[in-house]
Amino acid sequence: MKILIVNAGSSSLKYQLIDMEREVTMAKGLVERIGIPGGRLKQTRGEHKYELDMHMPDHIEACKQMLQALVHEEHGVLNSMDEIGAVGHRVVHGGEHFTASSLIDEDCLKAIEQNSSFAPLHNPANLMGIRATQMVMKDTPMVAVFDTSFHQSMPPKSFLYGMPMEYYTDLKVRRYGFHGTSHRYVSERAARMLGRDAKDLKIITCHLGNGSSLCAVDGGKSVDTSMGLTPLEGVLMGTRSGNVDPASLQYIMNHLHLDINQMMDVLNKKSGLLGVSGLSSDMRDVEEAAAQGHQRAQIALNLLHNGIKKYIGAYTAVMGGVDAIVFTAGIGENSAELRERVLSNMEYLGVKLDKEKNQVRGKERDVAAADSKVRILVIPTNEELVIARDTLALVQGSK
Ligand code: AMP
Repeated sequence: MKILIVNAGSSSLKYQLIDMEREVTMAKGLVERIGIPGGRLKQTRGEHKYELDMHMPDHIEACKQMLQALVHEEHGVLNSMDEIGAVGHRVVHGGEHFTASSLIDEDCLKAIEQNSSFAPLHNPANLMGIRATQMVMKDTPMVAVFDTSFHQSMPPKSFLYGMPMEYYTDLKVRRYGFHGTSHRYVSERAARMLGRDAKDLKIITCHLGNGSSLCAVDGGKSVDTSMGLTPLEGVLMGTRSGNVDPASLQYIMNHLHLDINQMMDVLNKKSGLLGVSGLSSDMRDVEEAAAQGHQRAQIALNLLHNGIKKYIGAYTAVMGGVDAIVFTAGIGENSAELRERVLSNMEYLGVKLDKEKNQVRGKERDVAAADSKVRILVIPTNEELVIARDTLALVQGSK
């Protein structure tokens, strides 16, 4: 079966067509600037590139153009859109409603809508993508795969905040966690690489990209994760602050006369690597500047490295040990320097990096020293494949 993966944002739509017989990507693309001037579709098929400049008034038009590109005589990969057996949609917030991926029906759509208040920028955009594809692919079954569902296995001691219980019972304020498809994929791959059953392993997965989160995966299940009700909690990120003392906000807001929306904007968009370094939210820029002696860039990196190290220590304690630490996403897969700095002085925990093996980018590899008790794995993430596999399984009724 051929499965189309759709990740819809408010003005963009990313897609990928996967042939599930061989689990290979046939084509992938991006429609940008939906609803604003300068609309564009870019599609790649291996090395072959196709670009179309065209105004896309809404997501429905974007979906139509995506399908036309996929069946395009010269640039496409399909003879007809009927060859697409199912569509898998990435949805950011499934709240407590979704503990796993779900076939999309009216109840599912309602539940996604209900969870929009937790992810006001993402869920409504995901819904627009679903509704638009449903309009243009009327009889094709569709599945929603949630960033949050893998973390629904967390126990209350991990997901509750130390606030009045009514905030949880009445308002559902709790830690949900994100990047679940990535944490799930790399923890399963890690078990495969180690030739062990995931049930017998304690793994810490570090998804480090523009947004970053860590996850404690015990016996194949998420038992703790660093992001919270929203993706703002946890380690320092590209533009997000990660953890701060909540009382510091009152102090800053009083002194700078900011309201809560302005304050949240600073924490989400002007903090992190960007805010601390004063240079860039992009790790490559910050690492390069730090290497040339830029002090604020060096401080930003130290904050990030130290923050990740603290979570690794905490999750080792929570699980009563660790068998493997996995690095994934843009920074985790590519920054040898970050891996080395984060894991320095951890021999007491049985964590010992092989510095030569560690010089790897974007490839699956065990980079631990031969005598390291804990395996250290670099694993490129593949969220689309997880979405495609879940979609196939649900559509075939095997889940
Ligand atoms: P992602 O959100 O997973 O696409 O990751 C984006 C982040 O990965 C950005 O901060 C990039 O600077 C970072 N990144 C990509 N390639 C490298 C690299 N070779 N070295 C360090 N960071 C990288």
